[in-house]
Amino acid sequence: MVEFLTTIDKRKILHVDLDAFYAQIEMRDQPELRSKPLIIARDPTQNNGHGVVATANYAARQLGIHSAMSAFEAKRLAPNGIFLSPNFTKYKVVSAQIHDIFRRFTNKVEPVAFDEAYLDVTANVLSGATLAAEIRHQILKETHLTSSIGVSHNKLLAKLGSEYNKPNGVTVINHENQLQFLDCLSISAFRGVGRKTKEKFDKLGITNGLELRQMSREELKTEFGKMGEHLYWQARGVHFGAVEWQRQRQSVGKEETFDRALRETNAVQIEFKRLVNSLVMSMNRQKIVGRTLNIKIRDEQFNTITRAITQDDPWTLNEATLVMAAQTMFDDNIGPDFSVRLLGVSMSNLQSATFEEMSLF
Ligand SMILES: [Mg+2]
Repeated sequence: MVEFLTTIDKRKILHVDLDAFYAQIEMRDQPELRSKPLIIARDPTQNNGHGVVATANYAARQLGIHSAMSAFEAKRLAPNGIFLSPNFTKYKVVSAQIHDIFRRFTNKVEPVAFDEAYLDVTANVLSGATLAAEIRHQILKETHLTSSIGVSHNKLLAKLGSEYNKPNGVTVINHENQLQFLDCLSISAFRGVGRKTKEKFDKLGITNGLELRQMSREELKTEFGKMGEHLYWQARGVHFGAVEWQRQRQSVGKEETFDRALRETNAVQIEFKRLVNSLVMSMNRQKIVGRTLNIKIRDEQFNTITRAITQDDPWTLNEATLVMAAQTMFDDNIGPDFSVRLLGVSMSNLQSATFEEMSLF
């Protein structure tokens, strides 16, 4: 049975990830925190039990605490743990330093989060392993923080590699050892295997990459749908996605032209809701946020106006908030007698969203 054609992927891809980023910065700045379980989250006792763990140091992780867990649950696991509210202003400064270091090695940098990026270093004459050592050295020297790097020929293996030897480690995965590496991985290490998928694999008796690879493509598709197809290729270390380094689009937005002009506030509001809904979906899909919300209004005489609100921090992608802001701009600029032929809502000053930042709120 021919499963797939092997093509030798000659790329050199790194996945760089700082270790417990926010927690590590706080421990760097307050060394007395090092020996204690440190949880970056608002203290649930001062916050009515609300809040989510952004990250935790390794002492806290040993107690079973992990990011995205409720702060309340973390408090139960570590009653004497230290809770610190995240200081994003500080983390952003360090993030910029790290991304500057990445760009010394290649312009092909795809930022994934504050502390994480893919680098395509194919054009660099040095080996991936050498570059990884040098990047880790420069990060440590300039920020006093440790990082982990996966080195391979595609993004999937690079990412799995950086996770494998964490914290403060390097994993090099090449064509010769990739199957050996994948076969030993626990099933939950594969991308997209969450709690539910894991339970299903448990029932099937599949615990590691080798057993996953022995499942047929049909079987995987039947059990897991599209995810099954992804897992089929993951088990073989095949991934062709490119490091997406080119600058993101300047703006993202939606507009709508109406056959019959809108003349009532109610109708305008319904359209804003629709436009904002599709804008938010598209931004979530692209994992981007933006600081400037723009609206565009054209009347029956083809007069067009645009208005914008720019904030210091990206807009939260909350539909009600954005609709209200759009409607306010409309009301402030359009008199009571209007006829609208076109409405648009867009976001500019874009940046990539980080999972951690988004899940906090
Ligand atoms: Mg990290």
